[in-house]
Parts: sequence; structure tokens; C-alpha cells
Amino acid sequence: MATALVTGASQGIGACIAKRLAKDGFDIAVNHYPSEGDKAKAIEVAEECRALGVKAEIFAADVSKFEDCEAMVKAVKETFGSIEVLVNNAGITKDKLLARMSEDEYDAVIAVNQKSIFNMLKNVCSVMLKQKFGRIVNVSSVAGLYGNPGQINYSASKAAVIGMTKTIAKEYGKKNITCNAVAPGLIRTPMTDVLSDEIKAKMLEAVALKRYGEPEEIASVVSFLVSEDASYVTGQVIEISGGLSM
Ligand code: NAD
Repeated sequence: MATALVTGASQGIGACIAKRLAKDGFDIAVNHYPSEGDKAKAIEVAEECRALGVKAEIFAADVSKFEDCEAMVKAVKETFGSIEVLVNNAGITKDKLLARMSEDEYDAVIAVNQKSIFNMLKNVCSVMLKQKFGRIVNVSSVAGLYGNPGQINYSASKAAVIGMTKTIAKEYGKKNITCNAVAPGLIRTPMTDVLSDEIKAKMLEAVALKRYGEPEEIASVVSFLVSEDASYVTGQVIEISGGLSM
């Protein structure tokens, strides 16, 4: 049985991707931020995955910390024996216009959204290299493609994810490891629940389909990217935004 490791999988898009990949038949390593609240939610996600007939375990790690990622990847490898799929999904926002954003707010978002990808790739790619097989999907954002006022930290981190995706596709292609990114638009999750009604309405105006995306609509594209059907797809960024024009 192949194993998929999904970061930030205790809620939102990550939880949905974990459950979708379980439905596809992958054993699931559910990463969660090391807090009691995230752990409780991750336990539920793992239970839902197991109900679909696969193995699933939870793994605590703050993905912005290299040593946490190193320990987690080692534990996942020991538990499941292999890691065929890595989905780098964990992410945060700390939105403010540049004039008001502090250096700490900038650095925090870069650490979780960008440095974490390095931390995970560095540890997982060596496992995939030995297997001569790997499927990596990084979760970027439309903010990384087009920019967004109030998100200089977030846009920078998500644009970096795209550069990292294309680089890994080139570095590891000859080893049968693919690396792609998805760039979601406005998706209904706890991350977007906190936006003001005014901002939500303004953003929806720019969406051709005139509605939010659902986390399942991200998970289905990730499912494709890690499947045999996408065996010749690498270094790509798939925008999943309902036709957003920014
Ligand atoms: P969310 O806030 O619901 O979930 C984010 C998850 O990441 C949570 O489970 C959280 O605990 C985890 N996380 C945060 N920091 C972590 C850390 N240091 N270590 C481990 N886990 C950590 O948000 P979401 O909407 O589900 O977002 C998932 C991904 O999709 C993020 O990368 C986000 O930037 C991206 N995204 C979301 C949207 C959207 O509209 N919701 C749009 C574009 C991109």
C-alpha cells in the first residue's frame, strides 16, 4: 500500500485532501501542528480515513521547524515503510498592508508557508530518491500568481512555492519524482471564514463561477496529480479559482 503524508491536515483543505487520498486507497500520515486543539481534530481525520479502509496515523510537527520535519519524516517512514506522496499544505495568513505589517508578521508567514516546504522536501526527497518514485504537490495560492493587497508576506511565500515546485520538478524528474503545485482561489475553510463580509463580497465579484470553491474541489485535483493519470505532468501550477480575474 502506498503512503501519503499531508501537512496541516487537521482541518480545512488539508483534512479534505487526507480523506480524499484515503478514499483513493493511500495509507495516510496526518500531520498536525503540535497543539491540543489540532491534535484532537487530527485524531478525527485519521479515524475518518481508517473508516475508508486504509491505515492512518497522526504525526505532530511544526513544519516551520527543520528538526520537527526531520523527526516526523523518520517516524512516518518507520510506521508505514515508505512515502510515495507528499502534500505540502500547511499554511497561515497574517494580513496587513505593508505600512502596518511588522517584521515578525512577515517572518512568521514566510517560515510556515515557504521555509516549511524546504524542510519537508529536504527530508522526504531523500526517501523518494531511494524508492525511485515520488509524487509531490505543494499548495500555493492565486496570491502567489497575481499578488493581493494586504498580503505581501503571504504572496511572497506562495510565489516562492511556485519557484520551488518548478525547481524540484527539474532536479528530481530523472528519478521518477514529479512535483506540481495547486493555486487555490477563494475556498470555504476556517482560513477564509474570518474575512469580513465586505472583502468576501468583493472577492466573489471577481470569480467567474460566482461562488466559493469547496475544499473537495482542491482535493480532487490533488488526487489527479498524484495518480497514474498524471504520470507525465510535472513542474505545473494548476489554478483552482473558479475563473478568478485579479
Ligand atoms: P486552515 O487555516 O483551515 O488550515 C491550515 C492548516 O495548517 C491547519 O490545520 C493548521 O493547524 C496547519 N498549520 C498552520 N501552521 C502550521 C505549522 N507550523 N505546522 C503544521 N501545521 C500548521 O487553512 P486552509 O484554507 O485549509 O489552507 C490550507 C492551505 O491552502 C494553506 O497553505 C493556504 O495558504 C492554502 N490556500 C487556501 C485558500 C483558501 O481560500 N482557503 C486559498 C489559497 C490557498
